[in-house]
Amino acid sequence: MLYTIPDYYRQFQCTADRCEDTCCAGWQIVIDNKSLHKYRKVRGKFGRRLRRSIHWRGKTFRQDKEKRCAFLEPDNLCSMYTELGAKGLCRTCRLYPRHVEEFEGVREITLSVSCPEVARILLGKEEPVCFLTYEKEGEEEYEDYNPFLYSKLADGQKEILGILQNRKIELKERIELVLSLAEDMERYVEKDKLFSCDEVFEKYREKCVCAEISETVDRKFCRNPRKVFRKLYTMEFLREDWEPHLRETEDILYGSGRESYKKTQEEFAEWLEIHMPRWQVQCEQLLVYFIATYFCGAVYDGKIYAKARMSVVSVFLIYEMLVARWCKNERQLDFEDVVEIVYRYSREVEHSDKNLELLERIEY
Ligand code: SF4
Repeated sequence: MLYTIPDYYRQFQCTADRCEDTCCAGWQIVIDNKSLHKYRKVRGKFGRRLRRSIHWRGKTFRQDKEKRCAFLEPDNLCSMYTELGAKGLCRTCRLYPRHVEEFEGVREITLSVSCPEVARILLGKEEPVCFLTYEKEGEEEYEDYNPFLYSKLADGQKEILGILQNRKIELKERIELVLSLAEDMERYVEKDKLFSCDEVFEKYREKCVCAEISETVDRKFCRNPRKVFRKLYTMEFLREDWEPHLRETEDILYGSGRESYKKTQEEFAEWLEIHMPRWQVQCEQLLVYFIATYFCGAVYDGKIYAKARMSVVSVFLIYEMLVARWCKNERQLDFEDVVEIVYRYSREVEHSDKNLELLERIEY
C-alpha cells in the first residue's frame, strides 16, 4: 500500500487543553464497531459512565446542550484519554485531524485545517508544500473502481499542484489555469480519451511558460459574489455561532450596495499588499490543501472540474470573510484572524458530506 503525506505532517502536535477551541464539540462522533465492543467491556465507575454516555443504536457519543462530547471535561481534556489512554479512543478521535482518502492500493493522508493548530502550521509555511510517499504492506481490491482513471487523476493533481506552486506566475492566473485544465481534463475523460489527457497537461505546461491566460477568476467572481456567499446558508450548520457569523459577514460586505462593496474590496486589496503580503503564499497553501485533499476523489464520481472549482470557491469565501473581519477590526487583521477564519470555515464545510456536496455545486 502506498501512503502520501504532506511534508508538514509530523510537525503537528495536539495542543490539548491549550487549544483555543476543541475538536470534541459541535460534531457527532461516530464510533467504530471495534471500539464499541471494547467500551462494553470496561468495568467499574468509568465503565458505568461509558455505558450511559453512548447512543448505542446510533453509535455516537452523547453530547450536552452545547454539543460538547460527554467525555469532554470543562478544561477541554478528554476523560476517555485520561482514563483509558490513547488506545481507548475510537478510530475517529484517534485519527483526527488526520484525513484519509482511500483509493485502491493508495492512502492519501492530509491534516485537516479545521484544527486551529494545523491551520497555523499550514498558513505559517513559507516554502511550497511537498508530498512524501512511503510503502507499507497490505493491498486490497475495490469493486467498480477504475485504476486507470485514478492514475490519470493523480497525474492531473501533480500538474495542478505544479501550476499552483509556480510563483513566477500571478496567483489569479495560476487559479485560472487550474480551472481550465480541470475543465479540459473532464471533457477528455467524458469523451473516453483518458489516455490523451497528457496532451492537456502538455498544453498547460506551455501556457505556464507564455502565461497565455484568457480571463481572470477575479472577473468571474465579481459577477455576483453575494449570490455565491449566500449558498452558505443552504448548508447544514454544525455550530450555533456559524449562522450569526454568516449574517454579520454578509451585512458588512454587501449590506451597503455594490459600489460600497467594490470600494471596500479595492481598499482591502491595497492594504493586504502592504501589510500582509504573505496572503499570496497562504492562499497558495490553501489551494494546494484543497486540491490535495479532494481532487483524486473524482475517481468515484467523475466530477473533475467541480473538485477544482470547490477549492477555488473555498478560498474565495475565506477571502470574503477576511475582508469582513478587516472592516470589523477597524481595518486591521493579523495572522490569528486568518487562522480562525480558516479553521472555522473548514469545521462547518469539510465535516459534513452534505455540505461538501453543496460546495461542489456552487457556480460563480
Ligand atoms: S482541534 Fe486540534 S489542537 Fe485542538 S484539541 Fe483538537 S486536535 Fe488538538
